[in-house]
Amino acid sequence: MPLPMPFTIRHSSIDGKGVFATRPIATGTMIAPYKGRRVLGDRTARAEQIAGAHTMSFDLPDGTTLDGRLAFNPVRFLNHRCEPNCSAYYAHGHLRIYAIADIASGEELTLDYQLSRPQPWRSGLSRRFRCRCGSGQCRGSLLAA
Ligand SMILES: [Zn+2]
Repeated sequence: MPLPMPFTIRHSSIDGKGVFATRPIATGTMIAPYKGRRVLGDRTARAEQIAGAHTMSFDLPDGTTLDGRLAFNPVRFLNHRCEPNCSAYYAHGHLRIYAIADIASGEELTLDYQLSRPQPWRSGLSRRFRCRCGSGQCRGSLLAA
């Protein structure tokens, strides 16, 4: 099934696979819904999910977690960058990815993962969350400062 989305998935210099624009995307454009399976909060399971380089789950305001490790959720490949060009917004029961900057064709789409990190992970796992985004504004960590 062809993706009706303005991006493709390919190798990223940040980490593994990444999401890349296939045409210019203007600030404020809704890029894709972040689809997943809702699971009840289980901090251990979530810690295991994000132990790898990719973070594929979002904690939602209703206390559940959206697990995005699904084939029909291509934006699960969004990499972290400390100066991101995308952000995830949750409203009316849906999590969606929006452009927060003008994005050129070919540019990698990125999120700042700190927006979705639960508080308990701020200590103890820091080494697993070292940031390699290469941004001039890099915090050195995927976690909030
Ligand atoms: Zn960084």
